[in-house]
Amino acid sequence: MGRRGLIIAIDGTAASGKSTTARRVARDLGYRYVDTGAMYRAVALKFMRQSLPLDDQEAVVRVLQETDISQVIANSGARTFLDGEDVTDPIRSPEVTAYVGPVCEIPQVREKLVDLQRQWGKDGGVVVEGRDIGTVVFPDADMKIFMDASLKVRTRRRRQEWERKGLKEDSQSIATGIDRRDRRDSERKQSPLKAAPGAIHVDTSGLTIEEQVNFVLEKVREAKAAQKG
Ligand code: C5P
Repeated sequence: MGRRGLIIAIDGTAASGKSTTARRVARDLGYRYVDTGAMYRAVALKFMRQSLPLDDQEAVVRVLQETDISQVIANSGARTFLDGEDVTDPIRSPEVTAYVGPVCEIPQVREKLVDLQRQWGKDGGVVVEGRDIGTVVFPDADMKIFMDASLKVRTRRRRQEWERKGLKEDSQSIATGIDRRDRRDSERKQSPLKAAPGAIHVDTSGLTIEEQVNFVLEKVREAKAAQKG
């Protein structure tokens, strides 16, 4: 095969369980985990700090050229660095979450980050998680997973996640936020969120984390056995 392992692409809707699943599957297999949403968030943070006018193409290109994004694996998942600064926590802020939508629609941003993602993943032994991994970044991935869950379940999970961080937000506004992001992700012209041909669909509404992780691991075992056989 000449590779260190499989390329596993995990795409899906916001709060569908992609990150948790991708992280755990990568850990179990000893693979690298690539969190592509965090990469878009890091670029958005830089643009936000500089109050960069997003419609000024020249400025966008210039700032992108001076931008270094890297990611290392830590116990808790991936840590993301922007120009050497660990921005793992700040990129999760509500401000960045609101700002990232238009930033990830800029073609030059996508081009730069997709290039990086391909470099990091090309040798295999990776779980790459995002919105366009199976469709655009690695259309030849060995395995493609598309995750979704009902809006009600996703809202509950997001609320619990925020509560653990000490943040309070009512369910209605969380649901509205998730729905708005899904719509924007699915309807945009640039690499819209959609299941890749051949993707395995996983509805996580009624699954525990263990169940969704085990489901994917089982599929990986089957794929490995098929490759050997
Ligand atoms: O997954 P996460 O919420 O961290 O993604 C942050 C933003 O980056 C989202 O708005 C999502 O649409 C965008 N994104 C993207 N392509 C990816 C991963 C994330 O456009 N591969």
